[in-house]
Amino acid sequence: WKDAEFPWNQKLEFYNKEVFGNHSFRRNQREVINATMSGCDVFVLMPTGGGKSLTYQIPALISTGVTLVISPLVSLIEDQIMHLLQANIPATFLSASIEWCEQQEILRDLNSKTCKYKLLSDVLIRQLEMMNTHRSLARIVIDEAHCVSQWGHDFRPDYQGLGILKQKFPSIPVLALTATATASVREDIVQALGLKDCIVFRQSFNRPNLWYTVIPKTNKCLDDIDKFINENHFDECGIIYCLSRMDCEKVAEKLQACGHKVSFYHGSMDHRQRTFVQKQWSKNEINIICATVAFGMGINKPNVRFVIHHSLPKSIEGYHQECGRAGRDGQQSSCLLYYTYSDYIRVKNMLSRPNEQDSCSFVYMQVTPSRTGKVLEANLENVLRMVDYCENNADCRRHLQLVHLGEKFDPKNCLGTCDNCSKSWTWIEKDVTNLAKQLVDLVKTTGQRHSSSYILELYKGSLSHVVKKYGHDGLILHGVGKHLAKGVASRVLHHLVVQDFVVESVKRSDTYGSISSILKVNQSRVDSLLSGKETIMLRF
Ligand code: ADP
Ligand code: ZN
Repeated sequence: WKDAEFPWNQKLEFYNKEVFGNHSFRRNQREVINATMSGCDVFVLMPTGGGKSLTYQIPALISTGVTLVISPLVSLIEDQIMHLLQANIPATFLSASIEWCEQQEILRDLNSKTCKYKLLSDVLIRQLEMMNTHRSLARIVIDEAHCVSQWGHDFRPDYQGLGILKQKFPSIPVLALTATATASVREDIVQALGLKDCIVFRQSFNRPNLWYTVIPKTNKCLDDIDKFINENHFDECGIIYCLSRMDCEKVAEKLQACGHKVSFYHGSMDHRQRTFVQKQWSKNEINIICATVAFGMGINKPNVRFVIHHSLPKSIEGYHQECGRAGRDGQQSSCLLYYTYSDYIRVKNMLSRPNEQDSCSFVYMQVTPSRTGKVLEANLENVLRMVDYCENNADCRRHLQLVHLGEKFDPKNCLGTCDNCSKSWTWIEKDVTNLAKQLVDLVKTTGQRHSSSYILELYKGSLSHVVKKYGHDGLILHGVGKHLAKGVASRVLHHLVVQDFVVESVKRSDTYGSISSILKVNQSRVDSLLSGKETIMLRF
């Protein structure tokens, strides 16, 4: 696709230089354009900042007819339209928020070809049928295509019905683009969109200029963040991802008190407030944004020097993508993740109760009940993989992320740019089966009605009021783990949860609304542990 002679070769160069002001094409851009211009269905996996937009904007200019771009967020769409109009390229958008008669007007305009672009946020069957009546469709672009998969980290019900496009317009080429997708999500996308003999372009997702570190989260976390920024990124730009809108505001408030130029951004702010913050950020009036995942898609700031996760991300794909917003200019940038197991309980609780979700969304309300179960299951699995990632203090972070995204990466090439690779010691693998059995035994003998932190307390020999009240200080296993190094028992217990030996359910106390978790034994899995069929090895 690279060196072939195509009738549009010259135009391609011209538009890239004269309209978009680029000196050359980046990796795979020309190839993707040639493939989609040839009428093939194309699937592009390109890291954030790789230049995906150009691969459909240039074809839109070269082709006759309208390019339909499906995009998940109105803010993303508005941002793109603004850029296109600035470059004198006609563009408009449709969404569910626009009145029906106005939509028809827009469609009429499209027929008269004043507009080359049509960006659509919410997919409505009625609109599609309207589209069917005019034949000037050049190409259908699905941006953020991973949103179509229920197994992915950002499933959107709006995307669910997109398969209909291929059915209604079988001869129109589809171009699907994403910056993250595991192998199973990729398969899902191709199937859901009904792509035929599709050509896949993918490149490495490794970002050598990003440094990855996981740090245990304590109640000094905000002081640590302040210190980290002052010492490493003073007066530089960064994003701090938080779990809830409350967290965003709290973290921003604290950092502001420390003298940083900071603001917050989350889904429950109104449009005007959000635009205001985005503008402040673009104009460098603020350096740091404390945000939920609602912030970041399509944010084009090349000099973000750090991305800090104040809480556990919801999936490895999501984490990878959020980190990807740092260092788009290629300069060295830091990715810090503050991890505590109790955040897992919080995330899990939010996932299980989508209605009470606090501004960041995994599952949208319109999802039908049968779907919800499947999506929830996939979401929980994704969080568990993230817990696994955080608790791993031996393997290369880069390797862990890339393997998850279906890419091979030799940890030797990390060159000490992640916390695990930069450690001066090498790990040893230990058999912790015995310890695991003891913990399982404790869960059982205490009636399978206590939290993981309580089980760990018992194991370490706590003599707290509650322990005494239940008489648990008399148990044989009480205090057996007293002499273990810090964190060992909890790693083993969390591993048991991740590997499904022990199941953790979340309970919300009615009186205080506080969350607690309860461990139960998954007997069939545990049997294979007790019978010696399975052993548990961990690296230390
Ligand atoms: P993505 O959608 O893959 O995250 P974008 O399409 O937003 O990336 O592009 C990221 C940035 O790279 C934009 O500022 C864009 O102008 C710039 N860019 C894209 N292609 C080129 C190119 N060939 N040469 C120089 N800059 C480019
Ligand atoms: Zn590494």
